[in-house]
Amino acid sequence: MIELKNLTKEYSAGNRITTALSGLNLSVDKGEIFGVIGHSGAGKSTLIRCINLLERPNSGEVWVNGVNLTSLRTKQLQAERRKIGMIYQHFNLLSSATVYENIAFPLRLAHISNQEIEIKVNDLLALVGLEEHHDKYPAQLSGGQKQRVGIARALASDPEVLLCDEATSALDPQTTDSILKLLLDINKRFHLTIVLITHEMHVIQSICDRVGVIHQGGIVEQGTVSEVFLKP
Ligand code: ADP
Ligand code: ADP
Repeated sequence: MIELKNLTKEYSAGNRITTALSGLNLSVDKGEIFGVIGHSGAGKSTLIRCINLLERPNSGEVWVNGVNLTSLRTKQLQAERRKIGMIYQHFNLLSSATVYENIAFPLRLAHISNQEIEIKVNDLLALVGLEEHHDKYPAQLSGGQKQRVGIARALASDPEVLLCDEATSALDPQTTDSILKLLLDINKRFHLTIVLITHEMHVIQSICDRVGVIHQGGIVEQGTVSEVFLKP
């Protein structure tokens, strides 16, 4: 489903080069929830942003659903990217748009008709439990509600993959649990493949089928949560 082959990513700032990913390999199966855990600076954020090529690796290949994204031209890449949703630690909502319009945004970009958008957005509002809040602005919502909007927006284009970039790191423990439960429901209901990055063990233990540990830009260990963390 997702295959990262020998990814290397270097950032250069001035005359200093930082190696964020160093020959990283990873496979994620269709329908699984795969968590990547690691310390700050280990390369988590770079890794997840390479899956939809928000960040371009210097070398290596990114395969999603049998397509080598690293070989595509811009136009084809845009089409493939629609199959990959993403949610963020700080939600990245449009502050001047309502909940409804935030969720509708990717559909408007794709020139979907207003009628179809209305059906789709209302379904998504129900899925994430925000029907009552459709005409509010992000500033009027709690953190958990904002992330529900982020999830609904990510699902608007019926993606096959959902990338979660520290999606619960800005939330309190109780809200974190309700968002994790929602992600698990969505995973089961749509057979959606989820890749998440986190520095929180609790997130990995509550919903991940498998986990990879990233250290200095490489996956140093992977397996089921009990294989990796509860060894005798
Ligand atoms: P994590 O998400 O695990 O904290 P990152 O992928 O953000 O790790 O960072 C990996 C390494 O790459 C770190 O050393 C970080 O400082 C560096 N890095 C990340 N983004 C940039 C950037 N835009 N420019 C320069 N260095 C960066
Ligand atoms: P109410 O507040 O009673 O739901 P509205 O006129 O605000 O009435 O919304 C009617 C329906 O249209 C709701 O289901 C709502 O989700 C949807 N809706 C809200 N805003 C928009 C919009 N900008 N474009 C299309 N449909 C919308």
